[in-house]
This record gives sequence, structure tokens and C-alpha cells, in this order.
Amino acid sequence: MAFCLSCGTGIDEYDSGYYARNMLCIPCYNQKISEVPMVSCNRCGMRIKRSEARERHSDFHCSYCFSEEERQAAIPTCPICNKRVESWQESAKSSKGSLAHLPCLRDGLHSAGHGAGPGVGGSPEESKTHQRTLIRNIIGRIGAFLT
Ligand SMILES: [Zn+2]
Ligand SMILES: [Zn+2]
Ligand SMILES: [Zn+2]
Repeated sequence: MAFCLSCGTGIDEYDSGYYARNMLCIPCYNQKISEVPMVSCNRCGMRIKRSEARERHSDFHCSYCFSEEERQAAIPTCPICNKRVESWQESAKSSKGSLAHLPCLRDGLHSAGHGAGPGVGGSPEESKTHQRTLIRNIIGRIGAFLT
């Protein structure tokens, strides 16, 4: 004679599903499978099955909030105002190589105030000396050719 592990009810000999139900009677088994652990989404508070919850930074998220947060995280942050640079906003690469708002970059250059702005492709002085050495090289080569 077998007994239900949960409530101790005798299981009929002909009940072949007893072991498949983890040695529970039918009512106990049905109760057990309906007890799905639930968690609530950390973002919108929706109740979701633990098995279906997505974990993000050790918080549970419903699948909608999870993909929303993923999307948000993928959007670059303006290093000047620390706000998201949305795709519809005017933006440009900042000197650090990260995407920044175009207005923020302009303001940043104005407020910097002291001399050359940060890294706008080298100062004009530098490129002038570079040109000079180039010309000197060419003249040198022509001279060598003539002698
Ligand atoms: Zn039982
Ligand atoms: Zn949610
Ligand atoms: Zn900005």
C-alpha cells in the first residue's frame, strides 16, 4: 500500500501515476503544480512567474521592462549634461569619442574659454609647422635631384 507523501492518503494499487506525481495523491499534486512561485517586476510591479522573470542587476523584471531597460542602456549618455542622447536629437562625437548632444558640445566649447577647444583635429599652429616641414622636404629632394 502506498501513501501520499503530503497528506498520507492511501493510494490505490492500480494508480500507476503515483511515482510520476512524486508520490503524491492527485489533489495534492494538483495543488503543488498550481503553486508557482511568483515575483513582482521591480520596474512596473506586475506579478510574474519566477521562472519567466528576467533578472537584471539582481532585480526581477517582466519581459517588457527587461527589454525596455536594455534599450535604455543601449542609448548613449551625453558626457556634458549626463542625459540620454536620443536618436532624434542632434548629436556629434565628443573629444572623448562618446556621443554628445550637439548643443551641449557647442556650449561646452564656449564655456571652456581658455584657448583651443578640446581636440578639434589639432590646433592650426601644428598643421602650419607640419606643412612647412613638408615643403622643406620637397625642396631638399629637388635640390638633391639638381646637383
Ligand atoms: Zn495527498
Ligand atoms: Zn515590468
Ligand atoms: Zn547633453
